[in-house]
Amino acid sequence: MSTSLQDEYIKKESLYGAKNYAPLSVVLNKGEGAYLWDVEGNKYLDMVSAYSAVSHGHSHPELVKTVQDQANKLAITSRAFYTEPFGDFLEELTKVTGYENVLTMNTGAEAVETAIKAARRWGYFTKGIKEDKAEIIVADGNFHGRTTTIVGFSSEESYKNGFGPFSDGFVEAKYCWSECSADESIKSFESKINKNTCAILIEPIQGEAGIRVPEDGWLKRIRDLCDDNNVLLILDEIQSGLGRTGKLFAYEHENIRPDGLILGKALGGAMLPISAFLSSKEVMDHFNAGSHGSTFGGNPLATRVASRALKLLYEDNLIENSAILGEYFKSKLKSIDNKIIKDVRGKGLWLGMELNESEVNAKDLCLMLLNEGLLCKETHKTVIRFAPPLMISKEDLDWAINKITKVIRAI
Ligand SMILES: *Cc1c(COP(=O)(O)O)cnc(C)c1O
Repeated sequence: MSTSLQDEYIKKESLYGAKNYAPLSVVLNKGEGAYLWDVEGNKYLDMVSAYSAVSHGHSHPELVKTVQDQANKLAITSRAFYTEPFGDFLEELTKVTGYENVLTMNTGAEAVETAIKAARRWGYFTKGIKEDKAEIIVADGNFHGRTTTIVGFSSEESYKNGFGPFSDGFVEAKYCWSECSADESIKSFESKINKNTCAILIEPIQGEAGIRVPEDGWLKRIRDLCDDNNVLLILDEIQSGLGRTGKLFAYEHENIRPDGLILGKALGGAMLPISAFLSSKEVMDHFNAGSHGSTFGGNPLATRVASRALKLLYEDNLIENSAILGEYFKSKLKSIDNKIIKDVRGKGLWLGMELNESEVNAKDLCLMLLNEGLLCKETHKTVIRFAPPLMISKEDLDWAINKITKVIRAI
């Protein structure tokens, strides 16, 4: 697959870069819509979408134009001043989501850190938890980012090995998925709640853990548990949010609303990094001047692009497309009916195909799909995650389904 030109770039990355990733041997230099091209001009369908950051498609012309216009006008100021795009963005995001307040950061992990700070302050100053005693309950299999605080409460050894000591104040409960029933999970969360608990922080569907979809009704029961115990429910929808599951937010499938919501990835319209923590005033008002911040957080360029990207979710019918094509895609993958496939699950255009380990490993399958022109990424050795841009056409999706079927049948 890789040629001498590609080898040259691969060599540069491995020579001069840290080795914290192990990319497939393909060197990309162009993207448009659902497609990516390598330096040799080979075309691929993107089924990874930068882990759901590319919902709008690569280089959306409207967003390219927005970047250009805003970059020409004003890109960065410090937060020592007000700016036009920031106010517009805050108004737009609160209008679309129904939350009262927003705090913007750049990466997902920073927004999670912001949520942790907000939950703790609410715990101390509203709930009355004694100083430095606040606890946040998280789930096993969680992925919330890579800061030292966050990896400290990960259950993934490779994320944390050698990076300690870690922060106190996090306790782990059992997530609900095929290996843990809703009853068992709820009991586990309930058993971890005490007078020092300020929040439960979870993903409504666990992406990095392999698209773990909880039983229907579980999230509602977690919501009730929080209500009954005066505990905040904070959902990390960095990957699941903004249409990925076929609704604006994954929590809408359960008709609940979290007290705090964390967004990132697709918020930047596949152009720029921008993330946000959203909540009620009651929670957000615990931040005062000087208590938190970020040099680039809320900058004019990123917020202008994010405002436009939010509107495009509706103008381009991305949420609806995710719901309709996601169901179609799932039914097609299920109908492949082959012994190497153990399970197909997910919501919207966010599907996990779990493989029988004894038949094939997920990385090898990704390499076979690469040869057919499909860019895919495995997660946890046995699962391939399919997450094309939400703007993908049915025609392109059918093409992908044919390739996937062909590769699986050939094994
Ligand atoms: C990607 C992701 C993060 C971290 O976002 P970064 O921008 O990589 O820091 C946090 N939570 C979830 C659920 C994610 O998918």
